[in-house]
Amino acid sequence: MRMDRDGLWKPEPGASGGADFAARCPFSPVAANEDVLAAERFPAAAARSDLLGRFESTWVGHVAEGGFRANGSSGGMVSWVAAELLRTGAVDAVAHVAPVADPQADGRFFSYRLSRDADEIAGGAKSRYYPVELSAVIAAIRATPGRYAVAAVPCFIKALNLLRRNDPVIGERVTHLLGLFCGHQKSARLVDSFAWQLDAPIARVRGVDYRIKDASRPANWYRAHLTLDDGSARAEDWWHLADGDWGAGFFQNPACDWCDDVVAETADVAFGDAWVEPYSSDGRGTNVVIARSPGIHAMIAGAVADGRLALTEVDAAFVEQTQAAGFRHRREGLAYRLTWARGGKLRPVKRVAPSSALPVRRKLVYRMRYMIARDSHRIARVALRTGRPGLYTGWARRVLAVYRAVAWSHGRLGAWIDRVLPDRRAR
Ligand SMILES: Cc1cc2nc3c(=O)[nH]c(=O)nc-3n(C[C@H](O)[C@H](O)[C@H](O)COP(=O)(O)OP(=O)(O)OC[C@H]3O[C@@H](n4cnc5c(N)ncnc54)[C@H](O)[C@@H]3O)c2cc1C
Repeated sequence: MRMDRDGLWKPEPGASGGADFAARCPFSPVAANEDVLAAERFPAAAARSDLLGRFESTWVGHVAEGGFRANGSSGGMVSWVAAELLRTGAVDAVAHVAPVADPQADGRFFSYRLSRDADEIAGGAKSRYYPVELSAVIAAIRATPGRYAVAAVPCFIKALNLLRRNDPVIGERVTHLLGLFCGHQKSARLVDSFAWQLDAPIARVRGVDYRIKDASRPANWYRAHLTLDDGSARAEDWWHLADGDWGAGFFQNPACDWCDDVVAETADVAFGDAWVEPYSSDGRGTNVVIARSPGIHAMIAGAVADGRLALTEVDAAFVEQTQAAGFRHRREGLAYRLTWARGGKLRPVKRVAPSSALPVRRKLVYRMRYMIARDSHRIARVALRTGRPGLYTGWARRVLAVYRAVAWSHGRLGAWIDRVLPDRRAR
């Protein structure tokens, strides 16, 4: 893999191609889809929903014991399950994403690594909205016998399942898959953008925290935090950044527009944030958890009974509601994107049927997100090349103002937008 000029990982030229690759790539139209993989993995699942896939149980809450919750981005459940798998001897190591020791020498801020004890797991806690790739840990797993868990976003989990089907060594050694819900992945340029806006020379940045935790503020008020080489720090609320609206799509990986799995449907367990009240206002962080494999369900239920986890069982509709925006973008939005002409490019095959039956205003929102994602890469590229960050930040501020007016305005402005963009679903 190599990082391209836009800060996205791409296969080395020549590394891809061939029937083998087509069967393993999670976006390949000929690879098995999430429904097929989940049916293979969880044939006797207790429940199934269209949006969540197959599962044993669904929960909301946080870790009660130790420092997992305070140390995590949300309720600390990913790190707890990883540490518990190690503590109980179910696995020998966990592959997850941690800060690299020397980002300036390494050329990246975060990468996958293998952790073998609770302290190492804690050192990798928190969400990293940063591009990562699995080749080094796959090579390490191949080289050293043992049982491994991997924490990853849904398309990586799907890729690992596809690999496990065709590769007996990986199939035997990767025993547990811990999935993170995913809205979309960002490019490395988001860190450049933070640095530009926080007045921090990127060459002096040593650490990045996308979501610094503050128990006194709502959990969904993300605050970006950079640590510099002299130990000083710069921080700003996402809301005040030119590109600080997650859903608008700045620096989104283009592949994410063709994904229909929000909740890691093929993982043994999947974790997200409880983005509904009263949880989103609780700055200490709250998870939603989907236990898909019976073993993980038993582990969680046992720890709840022992008071180690403060989780309450909820129904599927509750979890779906916490990810309403993500599901809208990956169902209604994806259906619409699938109707777009692709100019001879490979046509994605998804579990969602193409459809443009939606209000013009929603279509405009999806068009704008696509355009913002595409142009953010291009304009940041020019800003970097010319040393003029204002080219990017000025554009981002303007385009975000227009996007917000279209997506969110109610009252007179909203009524005016709806009048000039009439609902043409009937046609
Ligand atoms: C790109 C991305 C998009 C996301 N989108 C959503 C969303 O739309 N909705 C939602 O509810 N939740 C989303 N999440 C998940 C959410 O941010 C939290 O990670 C999740 O709630 C777990 O919190 P926690 O406190 O239990 O985890 P923690 O205890 O903080 O542990 C997090 C674990 O995940 C690992 N990790 C961090 N970043 C990555 C990465 N990029 N790839 C693989 N492993 C990683 C860490 O190494 C650590 O082991 C997203 C996460 C990522 C990385």
